[in-house]
Amino acid sequence: MVSVFHRVIRGWREKGGFTILELLAVFAILAVIAALVAPRYTGVVAESKVKGCESNIEMLTKAAEMYYEVNKDTKEPPTVELLLDAGYINDYVYCPVGVNDDKEDYEWNDGDKRFICIDQQHN
Ligand SMILES: [Zn+2]
Repeated sequence: MVSVFHRVIRGWREKGGFTILELLAVFAILAVIAALVAPRYTGVVAESKVKGCESNIEMLTKAAEMYYEVNKDTKEPPTVELLLDAGYINDYVYCPVGVNDDKEDYEWNDGDKRFICIDQQHN
């Protein structure tokens, strides 16, 4: 094994470059490493997106509670639009898991007295 290693090193020095086989071996090793790391990475990203959605729900629910503390006579259910117009949130909120940016991702659930995510990708 050591003699093979020495021959490879000496070969590089004498030729001043790598053979296509040596380059393929390096790329194969990198591909194996990438294949091992990629699923773990995407799993972490997906998990953090769900956490981001839960955080959005908490934030919207708190904003709605504050809104109804001030506007006690209001009977209409809170929407993201309403909280945005009233200044209780700074920006429109989308579910980070979702793919549909053209529809509202959160709606008020009167039974639970909190917002819920209506995106179908998770829950
Ligand atoms: Zn969501």
